[in-house]
Amino acid sequence: KNHHTKKGYLFFNEGLHQEMEKKHRIEMMLKSADYDREFYLVFQPQYRIEDRKMIGLEALLRWQQPETGNISPGDFIPIAEETGQIISIGAWVMDRALEEIKIFNEKHDTNLKMAINVSPVQIQNMDFLSWMEEKLEEKKAHPYWVDIEITEGATIHGDFSMEEIFVGLAKLGISASIDDFGTGYSSLSYIKRYHIDRLKIAKELIDHITEDENSRLIIRAITMMAGGMGLKTIAEGVEETCQLKILEEMGCDEIQGYLWGRPNSMAQVEKENVVIQKV
Ligand code: C2E
Ligand code: CA
Ligand code: CA
Repeated sequence: KNHHTKKGYLFFNEGLHQEMEKKHRIEMMLKSADYDREFYLVFQPQYRIEDRKMIGLEALLRWQQPETGNISPGDFIPIAEETGQIISIGAWVMDRALEEIKIFNEKHDTNLKMAINVSPVQIQNMDFLSWMEEKLEEKKAHPYWVDIEITEGATIHGDFSMEEIFVGLAKLGISASIDDFGTGYSSLSYIKRYHIDRLKIAKELIDHITEDENSRLIIRAITMMAGGMGLKTIAEGVEETCQLKILEEMGCDEIQGYLWGRPNSMAQVEKENVVIQKV
């Protein structure tokens, strides 16, 4: 609305200008962030629908910026990806997540999986497979404790193709999930080719499962296709019992969402999940 032209330049409207300033501010704060003091992980349980048992946890990053307060990952992750800082942030996340799952599994004599979000920028800017192998060794963590979540349709331009990454992870014994599935561009052949263990059905679809026939049809197609290919499905962002009922009927394997647990500190997760399944 507030476009002005000065000396032939088109100026941004207020909204866009503020957006850019915010972005710049986050960029500056990220540069000076003391990861160990400002970052922490929260964990959201993942459950198998069949027996309602917890089978894993997703690690989600939180940033408590000393002056600004909490900044949401939705706001700073895309900026960190642009500046390349996601590489050091992602390394920090991997260290903490592996440490936490090791402590958890050894304490409870379980083999729960830690789902860790990995950005395509991380994968394409280093030898991710060798790096993962070294991380597991360094942290004395079992590969089957780890599930790498990569967003659907992620493209990379590194030395390895996405296919090589998934095959490599499988060879290391690490499982992989496609995050936000059903909103992007994956084709069926992409899924088959990629040696993926699990499809994570996007919250955007789950949100409309009760009232929108099309969302239901897409989800049904996904669960059927996954079942036929031997892949597991997990629904994210499940908030209501009626959503769970539909998902259960459709043969979805696992759920994650506010209905059965918000992202929380490990101590809180342990307190709320007194019955922990041995897998
Ligand atoms: P995502 O991977 O799709 O994670 C799911 C998001 O949905 C999380 O938001 C989670 O807190 C939220 N959520 C889970 N259950 C429910 C529910 O029932 N209702 C609602 N309304 N929300 C729910 P969060 O933690 O804000 O993370 C946002 C995004 O930031 C993540 O989306 C992920 O893409 C990214 N992210 C978070 N942590 C990391 C990280 O360590 N590394 C990378 N690369 N990205 C991360
Ligand atoms: Ca995720
Ligand atoms: Ca999502």
